[in-house]
Amino acid sequence: MTPDRSSTGEQNGVGLMRIVVADKSGIDRLNELGVDLAEYVKPVDNGIEVHAILSPEESQSLRDMGFDVQDAISDQSDYTENVSERAASVRALQALAASTDNLTVLRSEWFTSLDNQLFLNVEVKSSAGADSTTVLTVSWDSGAGTAIGSGGTSTLSRFTDAGQYMYHRFSNPLAIDAAPTKATITSNKGGSVTVDVSKWLGSPRKATGDHPYVSDFVDHYMDPTEVTARFTSLAAEFPKLAQIVDLPYKTNGYRRQAQAQFGTVAASTVYVSSKAYGSEGGNDISMSLVNAGANAPLTVGVSGKAVTVNVATNGSGAVTSTAAQVVAAVNGNADAAKLLTASLYRGNAGTGVVAAAGVTKLTDNLKAPASVSRDPFQMKVLRIGKHRDGSKVGVFLYCQEHAREWVTPLVCVESAERLLRNYAQDPNTRKIVDDLDIFILPVVNPDGAHYSMYDYNMQRKNMTNYCPASSADPGNRNAWGVDINRNFSVGSAFDGYNGGGTSCTGETYSGPSELSEPEARNEVWLVDNFPNIKLSMNTHSYGGYFMWPPGAYKTAGREVLPRVDQGTEAFFWTSSDYILSRVQEYRGTAIWPGRTGPVTDVLYSAAGNSADEHWYNRGIIGWDFEVGADVYNPTTKRFTAVGFQPSFAEGHEEAMEFANGNIGILEVARAYATDKIQPKTAVKIVGQEPGGTTFTFTTSEPANVYYTLDGSRPTFDSPKLALAGMREGVQNITVNSTTTVNWFSVDIAGNVESNYKPDGNGKNYNKQTVTVQK
Ligand SMILES: [Zn+2]
Repeated sequence: MTPDRSSTGEQNGVGLMRIVVADKSGIDRLNELGVDLAEYVKPVDNGIEVHAILSPEESQSLRDMGFDVQDAISDQSDYTENVSERAASVRALQALAASTDNLTVLRSEWFTSLDNQLFLNVEVKSSAGADSTTVLTVSWDSGAGTAIGSGGTSTLSRFTDAGQYMYHRFSNPLAIDAAPTKATITSNKGGSVTVDVSKWLGSPRKATGDHPYVSDFVDHYMDPTEVTARFTSLAAEFPKLAQIVDLPYKTNGYRRQAQAQFGTVAASTVYVSSKAYGSEGGNDISMSLVNAGANAPLTVGVSGKAVTVNVATNGSGAVTSTAAQVVAAVNGNADAAKLLTASLYRGNAGTGVVAAAGVTKLTDNLKAPASVSRDPFQMKVLRIGKHRDGSKVGVFLYCQEHAREWVTPLVCVESAERLLRNYAQDPNTRKIVDDLDIFILPVVNPDGAHYSMYDYNMQRKNMTNYCPASSADPGNRNAWGVDINRNFSVGSAFDGYNGGGTSCTGETYSGPSELSEPEARNEVWLVDNFPNIKLSMNTHSYGGYFMWPPGAYKTAGREVLPRVDQGTEAFFWTSSDYILSRVQEYRGTAIWPGRTGPVTDVLYSAAGNSADEHWYNRGIIGWDFEVGADVYNPTTKRFTAVGFQPSFAEGHEEAMEFANGNIGILEVARAYATDKIQPKTAVKIVGQEPGGTTFTFTTSEPANVYYTLDGSRPTFDSPKLALAGMREGVQNITVNSTTTVNWFSVDIAGNVESNYKPDGNGKNYNKQTVTVQK
């Protein structure tokens, strides 16, 4: 089934619908039908619940095929609310951006705690504080007569409540060394003020908290133009810690050919497409079908950018030109053919007689404001690190491969802001930025994301139209494009894997070939060009998942891409525990064990996805987040799915908690980068009976074990301890006679147990005899 996006209305009445299938084969069947599935799979009493983006016609057609299509999770009224909320927020920001801000100091004081530690407390309100990019910095002296700044400098946290800006402050009082007398507060919006600092309270009290940590830098859904501008300004503000990496392949751009359609009945319908993009003159073209009176021949005339088709008529003045004849006449006129191409509707032969039509302007139908460029988009990566010379382990964080996943770029923005703005004060941030080379790409699919925000909110793919004339009419415009996360070269649809498609209007269309799209090639260029990148996180929405390779299988026999080895899988589970605890810290969201694991185990097959590309081609650990875990309603005692575009209040919370998760990933990456500790292992006997002894190995940390049973020296070519099966523990090994086991282990960072050299001649591997009773 090809998605039908041509029904009524601008957004075509499309909604996010709940479907219940009996088992996983039902999901595979929906995938094969080209149904636009959300990244969400939930076991329910009578099967598995999945969510699909469907027009009313598509819902009906699936019901006709026997699918249990249930109610809507979200529809167009939710989109309308989101759009107006965002517009109000953007207007307010534009008004604020015009002038230097005024700073009003609410409090400035120091105090002493029980153990005589000094603390500073400052609260300042900026007239531009409603703008989340407003950042206030405080510098203070170290006593009477000393210079401002001699006591220290720190960034204030922006405090909001119920969506309203309150003021800037330290989230916790800041520990200081000497009692200050004066402080200067400066704003990145130009404001500055110096005030006295007084002593607060006479009696000491217990200190709370530790270092101040600033967060919360996003206050509305952002389009790719805004996000990219934010990254550019961050690089300018922090030149010692960050720089922009321009990716080499520009996107096709937020632009389309201009089109017009004449007729409503397929056999008599003609549509035209401009040669030039709408923004490059296509929108200035017009065409008319004129009945000039009885016995007229079919002629085509061009004046400037106006194409006039005088249709043929009979003796009584009735039109006799068919759609096919009009198409041939227009395309056969040299002047008209310079401006546009005429086509028949959806492959129809066009034998129906056309109807006359007045002057009709061609349009590209694009509604974004002029501030969104129609040119090819320059994708930009923000590279953050104290040492950006390739000497540090690289981590690639990237967001919004799928356009409609509006929360995801906010996760990347919030992560970048936290790293840069906490560097000066927060020791943990300093360690991360000092020891890693972090690459953040906030929007992988900028053209599609602009289209999702301004034209069709359920857009998933990019905007490039590969359709032939038979499916390139304007009614199909919301169905064009390539699914970036199906365009990669490992386990792809072209290799026969499930979950990608070849229909140019299908929602998981994999493109004309692997890596055909500049957006996908940019990702590959980055990891090829910076081989120090060892870990990556691909952030999607929704459902609340934490996943890793393999991410694709062939339907026949469910032939999965090779599973990761035992040591790596153990590392993934250990890391999950750490990273997901960080997510949970924010508001208590627990990512469920059932939504943690390899993509193919917990979601479905996604042929040609980017995490598989990074892992199988380069050995880069490729993780995926699906932000937006189901929200628990204590009244109904039910979990509710949040959808792609929840109200901003919920989207904000998702951005905050998964930015926590990104920081957790960086902490895991730093532990990996600085790990010098060798793993320790032991043989563990798990069963013994006459004629056979079964054993396995235990490890002190995630590590791979290479072993021999024939007395030979173990090397990297020796058998490797494997996993017993999907989501099971390590394998057991059975020997039938008394055997000497020789082995060593190596952790994820490459540390070999006892400093053994598997490629050398040393004998410092582990040895143990496993006895078998007669
Ligand atoms: Zn996605």
